[in-house]
Amino acid sequence: FCVWGIGREATLAIIKPDGLLGNYTETIKATIAHSGFKISREKVVQLDEEGAANFYAEHSTKKFFHGLIKYMTSGPVLVMVLEKENAVSNWRSLIGPTDGRKAKITHPDSIRAICGADVEKNCVHGSDSPQSAEREISFFFDTPSGSQRGGDDEHDEL
Ligand code: ADP
Ligand code: MG
Repeated sequence: FCVWGIGREATLAIIKPDGLLGNYTETIKATIAHSGFKISREKVVQLDEEGAANFYAEHSTKKFFHGLIKYMTSGPVLVMVLEKENAVSNWRSLIGPTDGRKAKITHPDSIRAICGADVEKNCVHGSDSPQSAEREISFFFDTPSGSQRGGDDEHDEL
């Protein structure tokens, strides 16, 4: 059973608070479209501390954890499910390395090079594996794409 069809994969992308505030949404969405992704779900979310801490639970013991939670709750984020072949690794390549400052040198065409300020404020998120993608998509969206739903969480815009 595979909800995405043969060869299709889904990943979770987030435009983080600095990306939304800095008006990078259009640029990022243009890259998404040109790269052949389908945006199957999207919504704007204001994370609270508990939600952000759950989402980033794997980093709870890191020194940067509290700063990360403060950053991710500092304003709304745009959450998207992106679908295509090899969506997970493809989206990771497009966003570039974690540190936006280093990205400008090593991966100047990457999204984080364009809108990321440093290792924390790097404007976008991408799932790091198909397993993470599954967990992260169900964190934000409780029904599979294309199924019946009563919610209004699709294609919300600020
Ligand atoms: P990625 O988002 O590239 O998968 P990680 O999963 O390692 O990176 O980290 C999650 C997020 O935590 C990063 O996107 C960034 O916002 C923040 N972060 C990572 N490393 C650091 C660090 N050394 N100092 C401050 N913030 C960090
Ligand atoms: Mg990560």
